[in-house]
Amino acid sequence: MSTPGLPISELLSLLNSGKLTAVDLTQACLDQISRQDARVGAFLSVDPAASLEQARQIDKRRARGETLGLLAGLPVAIKDVICQKGTVTTCASRMLEKFVAPYDAHVIEKLRKADAVLLGKTNMDEFAMGSSTENSAYQVTRNPWDLERTPGGSSGGSAAAVAAQMVPLSLGSDTGGSIRQPAGLCSVVGLKPTYGRVSRYGLIAYASSLDQIGPFAQDVRGTALLLEAIAGADSRDSTSVPKDVPRYSQTLEQPLQGLRIGVAREHFAPGLDPEVERSVREALRVYESLGATLQEISLPHQKYAVAVYYIVAPSEASSNLARYDGVHYGHRAAQFDSMVEMYSASRGEGFGSEVKRRIMLGTYALSAGYYDAYYLKALKVRRLIRNDFDAAFQQVDLIATPVNPTPAFKIGELVNDPLAMYLSDIYTISANLAGIPGISVQAGFSSGGLPLGLQLLAAPFEEERLLRAARMLERETEWHRRRAPLAG
Ligand code: GLN
Repeated sequence: MSTPGLPISELLSLLNSGKLTAVDLTQACLDQISRQDARVGAFLSVDPAASLEQARQIDKRRARGETLGLLAGLPVAIKDVICQKGTVTTCASRMLEKFVAPYDAHVIEKLRKADAVLLGKTNMDEFAMGSSTENSAYQVTRNPWDLERTPGGSSGGSAAAVAAQMVPLSLGSDTGGSIRQPAGLCSVVGLKPTYGRVSRYGLIAYASSLDQIGPFAQDVRGTALLLEAIAGADSRDSTSVPKDVPRYSQTLEQPLQGLRIGVAREHFAPGLDPEVERSVREALRVYESLGATLQEISLPHQKYAVAVYYIVAPSEASSNLARYDGVHYGHRAAQFDSMVEMYSASRGEGFGSEVKRRIMLGTYALSAGYYDAYYLKALKVRRLIRNDFDAAFQQVDLIATPVNPTPAFKIGELVNDPLAMYLSDIYTISANLAGIPGISVQAGFSSGGLPLGLQLLAAPFEEERLLRAARMLERETEWHRRRAPLAG
């Protein structure tokens, strides 16, 4: 196993005892990146000198006996949708190929305060639109468990970087499943926080009422620590909620007593791979053996989630992406004869085809005459989806579902079938529409050796419960200890 693939608690104790320096660990990450990333394609940019310098400063302060932050010396990779001052932040788009972020996102400020080492920017679907990371304008990311397959998306680079032991922790963003889906497909843990738990300041917007930044890690402890480090209100994001951040990492080992887990018929719909279903049922049996009770619940509007999402998200995207006009921001075409041509050529050249499809869908749904029929209707159904969850959480503490309907699919398999691609988020999207938190935790492997995940959902601001429940499963199973078959 390469050093960055060690369990987080082990890495922290090695760092705290001085047996491993932040520089050693950062160097081990950089070495693994040079060994593996030509094949995996997780990173869009790495600045070894800058990362090693941050690590050196942390080591120096530790040597002086200073009290360090929560993540002292742990490297974190950042999805390239998050602004980190002085680094190119492309969103995996030609549109932002030359955009150097002039400021730090709130989460980056938080990571600096927590004494993390910022290790580099990871690949993603362009503007976070996609489920396979194939929509990146720059490169394909491969699943470390099977290089012929996708790592999922849109945060595929962040998930693959952790799964390939290139970095112990990473950040992603989740608008409809982009943290949980790749986490499930790569056998890492990923958490989408409650809407408002983490500031979106400095996160390049896709669909602002759905977007949240969240952590990836090899294990639940890493996920808890990283969430603890980045969560909290921020006056620059008016939707961030001024609520205290629990010490997630401190309560993690306390099992939940009398846990009631909801299981909804709607989450075991036709199209669900039998091996995925089996792994979810097995995980549920583990919970039962730990004293949890299973309760059948109903989420009658779940079946509309994908349809509602593909009205709401593109509508918001069409508005958010209007700013990329070659004047205010982004790529400007070299050749044009009029102002209108300058706009259309700049946008035509700067955006990839999936982004254009979303802009067209959204513009259509928002246009006069269609607004009421599509956008307004979708907002009403969105409310019903939230109401279903509110009612369910009156009866149960958590809801357990598959993360993905199938194990990782092959690169190229779904790119020409947008609807099939959209359906890969069928079990993750409703949490974004409802604003509730969700976690993806390892739940086994298919007969072909591909990772399978379990999703747990909870009521708003119940991340602590999600993490403790995920830890209960992790303690009873060995899945999280397996590492992708790449040379260490
Ligand atoms: N796959 C979904 C989409 O394409 C979700 C992406 C995300 O969560 N950013 O929009």
